[in-house]
Amino acid sequence: MTRELVILGSTGSIGVQALEIVEANPALFSVVALSAAGSNPDLLIAQAKKFKVKVVGVAKNADLIRQALPGVEVIDGPHASTEVAAISCDVVLNGITGSIGLAPTLAALDADNRVALANKESLVAGGDLVLSRAKEDQLLPVDSEHSAIWQALIGEKKSEISKLILTASGGPFRDRTDLSGVTVQEALAHPTWVMGPVVTINSATLMNKGLEIIEAHYLFGVPYSQIEAVIHPQSVIHSMVEFVDGSTIAQGSPPNMKGPISLALHYPHRVPAATAPIDWTQSHTWNFAPIDTDRFPSVALARDCGAIGGGAPAIFNASNEVAVQAFVDGLIKFTDIVSIVSASVDALRSSAASKLRDLSDVSAIEEDARRTAHESVKKVGA
Ligand code: MG
Repeated sequence: MTRELVILGSTGSIGVQALEIVEANPALFSVVALSAAGSNPDLLIAQAKKFKVKVVGVAKNADLIRQALPGVEVIDGPHASTEVAAISCDVVLNGITGSIGLAPTLAALDADNRVALANKESLVAGGDLVLSRAKEDQLLPVDSEHSAIWQALIGEKKSEISKLILTASGGPFRDRTDLSGVTVQEALAHPTWVMGPVVTINSATLMNKGLEIIEAHYLFGVPYSQIEAVIHPQSVIHSMVEFVDGSTIAQGSPPNMKGPISLALHYPHRVPAATAPIDWTQSHTWNFAPIDTDRFPSVALARDCGAIGGGAPAIFNASNEVAVQAFVDGLIKFTDIVSIVSASVDALRSSAASKLRDLSDVSAIEEDARRTAHESVKKVGA
């Protein structure tokens, strides 16, 4: 039996790689539906034809896509991905970037679909909501760090975890002392991973690691005091778990998202040759170093937001989405990104801790965060 997949964000980096896995393993997987924003209609149309999907969800360019795909049901509008996520299947891969991925995650869980989660913002913006709906083994990590931790924990007892240690490549500015003059082009050039633009900027600020600490807290139920991050420039060890007896288990493979994507799609099985293994005929040097918290204050800020809980991580993420866009648009400096996020968290601190009961609570707090961040962008840019 092939496993039926629904792929959200199919034209993005994760979606494209997932479809390459499907193409290479037709006996294991088939695709029933795709969704994408629609800003790359040609690719979406080509994907729908190649994988003979029955349903396509799209936010824009729906008429163009409908015309090109006779016989395919095209769902359009801002909630298209959420509707597609609720189609009954074996696994929904959520490869959407940003907290707009939260509603589709919830819809997929409610429809009893398993969710392979690459959209870390689902957990950052709505961790409590997602956890309250997810059954055991219904939510599987795709983020490479979390996949590594998940793999290291197979067969282990949660009570014997001493620490989760996330690795971070350190991004392009790991060794750069003055970050004030960083350009957009420099920030978009990641040394080890090829990813979408938002994740790449977040890797340069280390905001991504902050988001991933929050993601790890929700996925594995480990307190923030027991989650750390360490710089590992080679990106071969994807993360580690330290146990109470002083033993550490690490997961390693050359940087390639096809490993974690394929495991989440095929779990509990592994997809043969999903990714190239480490070549032991060559010499390797792997470095590990603590994060310079003065140059990269984002990790501590994320940890603070996580500890506040409630809506604080959602504020952190939404403000960062605004600040990243402002940086890409040339409105603010690279170093302003974290200052803007920090200012938003401070400004909204009184309401931050309140519990998020539903999606509208998340939207309300995100709206406050975005407005506050936009005001900061104006002040900084003036
Ligand atoms: Mg990651």
